[in-house]
Amino acid sequence: MISPREVIQKKRDGCNLTAGEIAAFIRGYISSEIADYHVSAWLMAVYLNGMTIEETLALTREMRDSGRRLDLSSIPGKKVDKHSTGGVGDKTSLIVAPIAAACGVLVPMITGRALGHTGGTLDKLESIPGFDPKPSPERVLDILKTAGAVIMGQTDDLAPADRRIYALRDVTGTVESIPLITASILSKKLSEDIDGVVVDVKTGSGAFMPKLKDARNLARSLVDVCRKMKTKIVVLITDMEQPSGRAIGNAIEIRESIEFLKGKATEDLETICMALAAHMIRLGGRARSAGQASKLVYEAVSKGEALKRLRAIICAQGGDDRIIDNPDLLPRAAYVQEFRSRMRGFVTRCDAKLLGLASNALGAGRTRLDDVVDPSVGLYLEKKIGDRVTEGEVLCRIHWNDKQRLHDAAPLVEEAFEIKARPAKGRPLIHAVLEG
Ligand code: URA
Repeated sequence: MISPREVIQKKRDGCNLTAGEIAAFIRGYISSEIADYHVSAWLMAVYLNGMTIEETLALTREMRDSGRRLDLSSIPGKKVDKHSTGGVGDKTSLIVAPIAAACGVLVPMITGRALGHTGGTLDKLESIPGFDPKPSPERVLDILKTAGAVIMGQTDDLAPADRRIYALRDVTGTVESIPLITASILSKKLSEDIDGVVVDVKTGSGAFMPKLKDARNLARSLVDVCRKMKTKIVVLITDMEQPSGRAIGNAIEIRESIEFLKGKATEDLETICMALAAHMIRLGGRARSAGQASKLVYEAVSKGEALKRLRAIICAQGGDDRIIDNPDLLPRAAYVQEFRSRMRGFVTRCDAKLLGLASNALGAGRTRLDDVVDPSVGLYLEKKIGDRVTEGEVLCRIHWNDKQRLHDAAPLVEEAFEIKARPAKGRPLIHAVLEG
């Protein structure tokens, strides 16, 4: 059998690995016969030389099969999940899961924590008093049956190879690799026993794939692998040059999601959520066309059914659902500082990455895995790209608790905004849609 060193050399020299070689390598890692240093070197070889679709498929399959798979066969109906490659102010999961559930699609959603400058749905949900982000497998079935959706963290036994490999990628500079991202996302999604998945690949300054060309290549890789795994997929490439919606943080994003489902939505967030939810509904067999799906989505929000589902999800996962009627029960920062424009003109930059870093600096995210997140701090954007501003007008409200942290965040907010005499050329919100 080929040794770990030979697997590394083969990839280092730009050769393709067989499915058997990839399987043996990943299995050896999980059983501790292959060390972290072997996998680290191999990850760098993959990062530099890439992988064919066949290799990516073999890696995805092996990572999926490294742990337990959810068995949802006792619940009739199509199951569809949604995944985002990560962004700033990206609260779409909190909005589309209840919408899809209200339209009759079951949503077993596995979601992650804040990473780098990006936020994490799990951290946001944990700002709801009492919310259980890791229900037992039996509870997952109950929650899905009663609420139609469950939003939970990755358990220890679900795709464990991904968790270990991701931790190595994080410290070896090998996160931004298309085959590794593809296998990481799909190994988790495909262990959920789903009929389809909608993936939101972000592009722009606040995304892990800032260049549209790279985002397109990732989207294609996701579609190709999913197709070969016989699972339906729709990939939307959406813009993350500026944050989604207005709130950035944890409790503050839950508040914006509730407002959205009460009918008060920011335009960019609405466009993206409506498109994601419509594709989930179509994949879930509840609508035949995109037009029909969009109509169902609008009805679910306007009739209050999606808000009811959000309440049901929060209740079923042990959270305090009074936050729906009274969002002031969510954690709130002690102070709010206004950041004002020094000149009149148009907002031409509202940089997602810098604002994500500013929100982290306030305490809303993590720089180390064991950092404790402050659920109450964050940013609220009063102005976004294209908006007209007068001198002294508020651009952004900074919700803060700690003076030193405010001091660290303020220059990032300052740098994130640019005001010019003329508006900048707009970017599309949805760059492309791919289907497999
Ligand atoms: N999200 C994932 O789950 N994995 C990656 O590698 C990147 C984004």
